[in-house]
Amino acid sequence: METPAAERLRLTEIFLSVQGEARAVGWPTVFVRLTGCPLRCQYCDTAYAFHGGEWWEIDTILAEVARHGVRHVCVTGGEPLAQKRCLKLLEALCDAGYEVSLETSGALDIAGVDPRVSRVVDLKTPGSKEMHRNLLSNLPLLTAHDQVKFVICDRADYEWARAMVAEHAIAGRCDVLFSPSQSELAPRDLADWIIADRLPVRFQLQLHKVLWGDTPGK
Ligand code: SF4
Repeated sequence: METPAAERLRLTEIFLSVQGEARAVGWPTVFVRLTGCPLRCQYCDTAYAFHGGEWWEIDTILAEVARHGVRHVCVTGGEPLAQKRCLKLLEALCDAGYEVSLETSGALDIAGVDPRVSRVVDLKTPGSKEMHRNLLSNLPLLTAHDQVKFVICDRADYEWARAMVAEHAIAGRCDVLFSPSQSELAPRDLADWIIADRLPVRFQLQLHKVLWGDTPGK
């Protein structure tokens, strides 16, 4: 019998790597990369996930995740929440006992995400060219279990992000991550600015890029 469409998701890749970002950085992690994204950030490094992919049943995804034998799972994209059934996948992964994180653009509603999931929510800066997509109604929903991430392209982005953190009191709600946009901003400049301003944010480099560069599936 054919699997009901409600149980399937469009998937670009599933792979085992080291978590390169956010609170779970360094943990061996299975990445489930869903296909599709309604945004077009100018620095996007996963454009290969915009199109294509294959339909996978949720049970098959769970079996593939289990095959890798690690505790951490990251559902990413593209923009994973662009597929409504992503919510069901997240719930199923939590039910199976994994430490689950979700990487999302911040442009879609996070209210329906299982509360056991650690949500890593981007706030798109002016330099991304997608700032108008930020869904600010997500901010009051954030808890200490979540994180907000800014990818900073230049000094103007930094000042914008600094103002957003203060205006929305984000640092009192959850961890705030500032990352330099690769090849656009020298990491040391960003670190120096954060230190000079004593900002209550975490500087981060994408560890997987230090290790493997831009190789897909890493
Ligand atoms: S939201 Fe993420 S996947 Fe989508 S265009 Fe921006 S960086 Fe790329």
